[in-house]
Amino acid sequence: MSQALSTDILIVGGGVAGLWLNARLRRLGYASVLVENGSLGGGQSLKSQGIIHGGAKYALHGALTGASEAIADMPRRWREAVAGNGELDLSGVRLLSEAHYLWSPGSLAGNLTSFFASKAVRGRVDQVKGEQLPPALQHPKFKGKVYRLAELVLDVPSLIARLAELAGDSLLAGQELAPLHEGEELVGLRVDGREIRARRIVLSAGRGNAELLATLGLEQPRQQLRPLHMVLVKGKGLKPLYAHCLGGGPKPRITVTSHPAANGQWVWYLGGDIAEADGVARSEAAQIASAQKEVQQLLPWIDLSDARWATLRVDRAEPAQSGLVRPDNAFLAEQGRLLVGWPTKLALAPDFAERVIATLERDGIAPGSHAPLPALPRPPQAQPVWEELLP
Ligand code: FAD
Repeated sequence: MSQALSTDILIVGGGVAGLWLNARLRRLGYASVLVENGSLGGGQSLKSQGIIHGGAKYALHGALTGASEAIADMPRRWREAVAGNGELDLSGVRLLSEAHYLWSPGSLAGNLTSFFASKAVRGRVDQVKGEQLPPALQHPKFKGKVYRLAELVLDVPSLIARLAELAGDSLLAGQELAPLHEGEELVGLRVDGREIRARRIVLSAGRGNAELLATLGLEQPRQQLRPLHMVLVKGKGLKPLYAHCLGGGPKPRITVTSHPAANGQWVWYLGGDIAEADGVARSEAAQIASAQKEVQQLLPWIDLSDARWATLRVDRAEPAQSGLVRPDNAFLAEQGRLLVGWPTKLALAPDFAERVIATLERDGIAPGSHAPLPALPRPPQAQPVWEELLP
């Protein structure tokens, strides 16, 4: 049987939440082990659009009232980290765009009035024109208004790679997880038969949290899955675009991000309203047809003659909540040594880590001394979704 281990914090799940937390803990001097049963980033993280939201989207329906929500501070925290002087040193992570844009294709939509009046966006949104427009919108036929939001877009594959680097020797590929009890108390996990004792166990396994909780005999916190049907398009004629395109409703009609493919072309990744309820109900072919129609209508000058299309069905895993639309904060629940949570957004990974660290400080858990880790089987990093679907 493999050698038993002891550590300060045992983390389950190597998406952005677990990896960010692991890197923060290591920087603070804690010993940690992170167990991943698939590939690093291969859950939702590498399927995300990489937008570091600051809450502007919520201001569209008046749900963000001020800077009090954690999300408002995220662009600054990530910017500092990417510049190498933040809570983590993420230098080397590729910034795809300094800004995300809000794009109103026709006359100003009514809901923008309250948006611009909102405290959350005041002073943080500028209209851009001409050469300042995102490259894909610089065309004589483009009519509409574009606003620059103080939100950035990151290349998630380079982010996951950097976080994996910061993990040092703490990553463990493991399949079978079982609780390790001492009396009634959960004191660790058995991973593929190897005992790992820890002072705290954090479940940050995305949609895998529900099954892990069941394995531990727990029913709370409850999880909800929100299905999405995303569209990808790759072609020579695509130029970078990072924007929420507004429709009549409170949600962006379409949210476009652009990702560099290995062959030098750009891949547009389309989410927003098109990927939600009606989009989820569509077949793959119908979803592609609907996206083609949207792009043709909104950006008729884009040459899509050689473009290849694909769709991706993926669920967002979150804590169960009421149907109310509200700004997000990371979610963390506690039960004895066990902490369970969902960041709810990639952008909120720093908030998730902060919440875990606050519980350690509250409980007087300082970094302990542990034997160095033996060489552990390391989980692989997942491929970007656009390389898998549109190689
Ligand atoms: P995940 O990334 O899902 O990671 C969980 C990990 O746990 C996985 O690697 C999985 O293999 C592992 N795991 C599961 N079960 C086990 C087990 N039993 N044992 C060991 N390991 C296990 N957020 C933003 O802020 N900006 C965006 O632009 C954005 N766009 C998005 C677009 C899409 C299409 C989707 C689906 C989400 C988007 N999000 C975005 C949300 C964001 O992706 C997620 O909130 C975030 O990635 C969740 O991170 P996580 O680490 O909790 O989960």
